[in-house]
Order: sequence, then structure tokens, then C-alpha cells
Amino acid sequence: MHGLMMNMPLMISALLKHADQNHGDAEIVSRTVEGGIHRYTYRAAHQRCRRLANALRALGVQPGERVATLAWNGYRHFEIYFAVSGMGAVMHTINPRLFPEQLVYIVNHAEDSYVFFDLTFLPLVEALADKSPKVKGWVAMTDREHMPQSKVKLLCYEELLAAQSDDYEWPVFDENTASSLCYTSGTTGNPKGVLYSHRSTILHAYGAALPDALNMSARDCVLPVVPMFHVNAWSIPYSGALTGCKIVFPGPQLDGKSVYELFEQEKVSLSAGVPTVWMGLLAHMKQNGLRFSTLKRTVIGGSACPPAMIRSFQDEYGVQVLHAWGMTEMSPLGTVTTFKLKHDGMSKAEREALQYKQGRVIFGVEMKIVDDGGKDLPWDGTAFGNLMVRGPWITSGYFKAEGGNPLKDGWFPTGDVATIDADGYMQITDRSKDVIKSGGEWISSIDLENLAVAHPAVQEAAVIGVRHPKWDERPLLIVVKKKDAQVTKEELLKFYEGKIAKWWMPDDVAFVDSLPHTATGKLLKTKLREDFLNYKLPSA
Ligand code: ADP
Repeated sequence: MHGLMMNMPLMISALLKHADQNHGDAEIVSRTVEGGIHRYTYRAAHQRCRRLANALRALGVQPGERVATLAWNGYRHFEIYFAVSGMGAVMHTINPRLFPEQLVYIVNHAEDSYVFFDLTFLPLVEALADKSPKVKGWVAMTDREHMPQSKVKLLCYEELLAAQSDDYEWPVFDENTASSLCYTSGTTGNPKGVLYSHRSTILHAYGAALPDALNMSARDCVLPVVPMFHVNAWSIPYSGALTGCKIVFPGPQLDGKSVYELFEQEKVSLSAGVPTVWMGLLAHMKQNGLRFSTLKRTVIGGSACPPAMIRSFQDEYGVQVLHAWGMTEMSPLGTVTTFKLKHDGMSKAEREALQYKQGRVIFGVEMKIVDDGGKDLPWDGTAFGNLMVRGPWITSGYFKAEGGNPLKDGWFPTGDVATIDADGYMQITDRSKDVIKSGGEWISSIDLENLAVAHPAVQEAAVIGVRHPKWDERPLLIVVKKKDAQVTKEELLKFYEGKIAKWWMPDDVAFVDSLPHTATGKLLKTKLREDFLNYKLPSA
């Protein structure tokens, strides 16, 4: 027997209609590329989204067609998110920090018909234009007054909107229709496209907003530092409209000073970003003796949040850290570390230790760990194995079936190695390709990095496996020192003593001026492994 409830498809446009109707005067504030602050409301945004949908229709954009952006976090980017998906086309956010060859590959692979870009990226557009034959138009996200001179024929965003009425009815169609596309940064091989649907996006937006996830509500003011081209800014645009919170978009200025000023000016209560951006912010605050007056929580994920950063946010600044784990293939949220009732009596040290883990799943995500033979491993907090996931917002395969079927018995292999404890808290010990294999045993590079950055002289640290004649691989610690700080190899190794098993001790320490990062701000270990390919360990 079927239930007798209305069968209404889950549509992205419904989020915006809801925000307009119920939170019409809640603000969306943006720091713009042209300079200055732009302010309007969900109601005004909805009106402009309808104009944009008409403009896209006038340009001939068809359902299913890919429309791309090369843009910072800002109100026009927000409008494109909702107008493109809302009309039935596919919103493709491109990460402008990728290498030019990767950008060319992505635009052609996605067959983007229009590319909307912030003025910052005009040089990129000029480099891409001759190499992207399928692109019918390049739209500068600005007004007539700021239109640049270019050898590429450009369309002007505000003119496209001005030419249209805001009379537009959002179409209703199958909720499984593709809504947006995001390529994984592909540290090896070509990037692969993850194609989200209206249904997966809405379910994920609900999940992400839950109290034990991002905990977003109509009383929040949320500033996503995480870019809208990095897995949909972790759902903040969607969960923002779903909850009706105020949103603050930081535009291109993501340095500590700019972000701090915006936090204070707009009274931000919740933020989200990768650990590297927070390093800049915390350094700025420390140098200038600053405090947060409204920030209460921040989501940190994308790579492991060093315990020293968690302690700094919580103990020095009173900001709760929500350590989160996910991936492009998971929309992205998988787990978040929040406490349970039974943790109330825990000591501060015990609570913090729990926060070093990546957390427990949000309903909608199932996970398990398996050994190399595919056998389930126990949830005891010590056994570690390949982390597998499944759920309605997890990919079933890449765009254009690139790479074949990624699933194993219906589960998606994350490429991460993890433990899960009896309470369901998962801890990433490594990416399967970064784990250091020494004499048949595994050493977690993340653990060694986390300990290194707790040393007062260390700004950033990476640990990689270097070839060793006896042990296959041994750990090498690579360190960037803090400005004006002094520390020796011996002091750093001494710092590990008593904190790790003896055989985990790095065999050597290399000091460098900077570490390479991926387009999403993670350590680029493939590059480090190349750079240190022929490195001779003193023990070898
Ligand atoms: P890209 O590396 O292309 O940006 P993703 O953003 O999808 O791709 O990266 C997902 C990966 O990032 C995960 O599989 C995991 O290895 C790593 N990751 C994400 N969050 C965390 C975290 N909190 N701790 C450790 N690793 C993380």
C-alpha cells in the first residue's frame, strides 16, 4: 500500500521561494570585486534570479545544458547558482585556481555553453577563449561602467538582467534531474566531474543544516570562507536559503585581516573553511591582539584540522570548532564532530581529543571500514581500514562515465584510511596514497603533521614517505618555520618523544620556505614526493 502524501519533487528553486516568502528581509551581504559592499535581501535576490532565468532563456540555454562560473563568493554567483539550476540547466562551478591546462580540459569536457566570470579572472578567460570552441558566450559579472576592454567578445551581466522582466515561473520537473557539476581537483590524472541532482542537493541541504552538523538557523549570520567553487561552499548557499540565515560573502579578499573585519562589521556567528585560511586569520589576530565579538562556531574541514588550531580557536578565542570531513563525491558532507549527551561530564582534554577526530555521520550517510580484501573491520577505534560510504547524496559514477564504475558492491571507496570507534566517531589516519608504509606497517602522516604544528616554531608541516632500502619507506618531516622563529632538527625530533611509537619517529627533517598546495588549499603531496624523490635519508 502506498502512503497518501503529496508527491512533490524536491526542487532547488523551492529553497529560494521559501527564503523569499518567509525570510524576505534577511540580508545577503557581499564584498565585491569592483570594491565596496553590496547589500540586499533574499526577496531582492529572488527577483534578480527570475530576471537571470529569463536572460538565460533568451540566450537559448536549454535544460541540461552546462553553464559555468569562474567566480568568488558573492551575490551574483549566488544568483547564478539558483537561476541556472532552477530553470533546469546545470550549474558548473569551476575552480579558478586549477592549472590552465586543467581548466581547458574541464570547460571542454563539461561542454559549457556560457561562462560567467568575475573581473579578476579576465586573464584566465582570455587564455581559455580560443581553446574552448563550445563556449557561446563569456559573461562578465559586472555592470556597464566596469566592463573591461578585451580581445574576447564579452557580455555584461547587469545588461543581460536589465533587459528582462522578473516575471518567471520556476518549472517543476523530475527531482533526479542534474542540477550542478563540480570537478574533483584530481591531484593525479584528469579531474572528474561529480554531477549533483535537485534531490541530492535538497537532502544534503537539510542534512548540513542539522544541529549536529553545521547547526544553521534563521538566527545565524554565516560567512562561507570556503569558496562557492569548492563543492558548493559546503552547501551554505542552499542551507542558507533553507534556514533563512543572513549570509555574508567575502569576495576575493580572503586574507586574515579582511576576513576578520567582515566578521566584526557584519556580526558573523558561523563560518566555514579549510585549515590554511584559518592559519592566516589566527596569525593576524595574534599579531594584533584582536578578539571576536560575535563569532561562535566555525566549521573546519577539507583536510585534517590540526589539534593546535582547535585549541587556539576554543581556548584563546572562545569559538567552537566543528571538525568536518567530506569530499566532492559526497556533496560534500559526511561527518562532523559534535558531542553527545553522554559526553557532558567529560574533561576538557577528553572533549578536545574527541574533536581531533573527523566525527560521526549525518543521517543520510552510511559508512564502514574494510580491509584490502573487502572484509568489514570492527568499530573499536583502533582497527583501521579503507573507508567506504553510501547514501542519497553520494555519487554513483562520474560525469560521462569517466573512470568507469567507481562503486564496490554499492559502496563508494573514499580513498581514505580511517578508524571508527564504538560511538561512531570516525578518524582519518591518512589518504590511502599518503600513508607511509614502513616494514609492512602503516604510519599516519596526518598524526605526525598534527604533532609538528603544535611546536611553537612551526608554521606548517608535511610528512611524506621517502624510499628506504630496508623499510621500503620511512617518514621525512618537511617544515616551514614561523617568521623569525628558530628551531633545529634535533629539537623537533625531541618534541615527538613520548608522543608517538618509537618506530614512527621521522628519519629526518627538511626545512623549506613554503609548501605546495592544491587548488583547494590542501598539501600537494604528489609534488612533495616528486621534489624529494631522490632524497637520501641519513638512515638509508
Ligand atoms: P580535492 O582534494 O579534490 O579538493 P575533495 O575536497 O573532495 O577533493 O577532498 C576530499 C578529501 O579531503 C577526503 O577524501 C579526505 O582525504 C580529505 N579531507 C576532507 N576533510 C578532511 C578532514 N577533516 N580531515 C582529514 N582529511 C580530510
